[in-house]
Amino acid sequence: MSEFLPPHTESDFESNFSQLKPLMNSTEAYYESSRCLFCYDAPCVNACPTGIDIPLFIRQINSDNIFGAAKTIFDSNYFGHACGKVCPTEVLCEGACVYNHSDVKPIEIGRLQSYATAKAIVADKLFYTPAAKNGKKVAVIGAGPAGISCACELRLHGYEVDIFDSKAMPSGLTMHGVAPYKITNEDVLDEMAYLEKQFGYRLFHNTTISAKEDIDQLQRNYDAIFLGIGLGSTSELNIPGEDLENVFGAVEFIEELKIHHHFVSVPKKVIVLGGGNTAMDAASESARMGAERVILAYRRSREEMGAYDFEYELAKSVGVKGMFNVSPVEIMSFEDSVNQKVPFRGFRVKQRH
Ligand code: SF4
Repeated sequence: MSEFLPPHTESDFESNFSQLKPLMNSTEAYYESSRCLFCYDAPCVNACPTGIDIPLFIRQINSDNIFGAAKTIFDSNYFGHACGKVCPTEVLCEGACVYNHSDVKPIEIGRLQSYATAKAIVADKLFYTPAAKNGKKVAVIGAGPAGISCACELRLHGYEVDIFDSKAMPSGLTMHGVAPYKITNEDVLDEMAYLEKQFGYRLFHNTTISAKEDIDQLQRNYDAIFLGIGLGSTSELNIPGEDLENVFGAVEFIEELKIHHHFVSVPKKVIVLGGGNTAMDAASESARMGAERVILAYRRSREEMGAYDFEYELAKSVGVKGMFNVSPVEIMSFEDSVNQKVPFRGFRVKQRH
């Protein structure tokens, strides 16, 4: 049973989706940075996909060089603020921290990262200036992390860059696909505005590049095209009933919730099919929207789920129940399920043995 009431106001929504990694204050950041051992050949750096010099930026925070810390982070990752909040740090940098070997809580690297970068963004501390024009133009398709990061790099080398995106707001997955309890829309857009101001690329929103003629036109007008099209729609199950009312793809549901918050209505009983991180988010979000019963149904065993353990634990902590070794064979309307006395209203499942 979910502990959350359906949110009716923005304040209700914020309360149900309170941040998992809230910003540290300066005392917390000083204390946490003091714990770091500044390891040589630090395992946390080796575990970071963007290779941020973590001991360096933590030392900079500890010596009150906060903007220096922010620059260290942004030099390796233009999405430094968002990544501090949304990266699965539990299995990356923090999971590799040497403190894990002594049963001591690892350094909160993600929160320290967000602390330093937030300070730079709020203070409008600008670190980068585009190079002089080199006469070349690049079209970037997709304003997600790949497209924006590519644009930043190109601007540092003097390329003119135009970014085309089908959505009304930038940052792709970060804005449209990450659960609201991991990062707020405001945080995402502040970092996007901060980057746009420094690098001076041009963004064209609500512009879909889908036809061959669109690509032909870009090829005529630009020296190169970068494809940064990451976020796809939910895979289809190819079972009867997928087009019934109240059956949604998880990606589409999460996007709807990110944009429309408490205006989205979630029914009392929700079943989520899948065992990946997106399924965990959809289930957690349904519970936080006030659904009374949320079931995660996965076709294989608990151990075979693709989701990170901490994501499943997070879903369980808000009342989500797991159901394993079941495959959906049909999605049925309410009337069908009552007439046929199937075990779950709306779904017919087959047990895996
Ligand atoms: S592994 Fe942990 S203690 Fe060592 S440098 Fe990284 S964060 Fe600091």
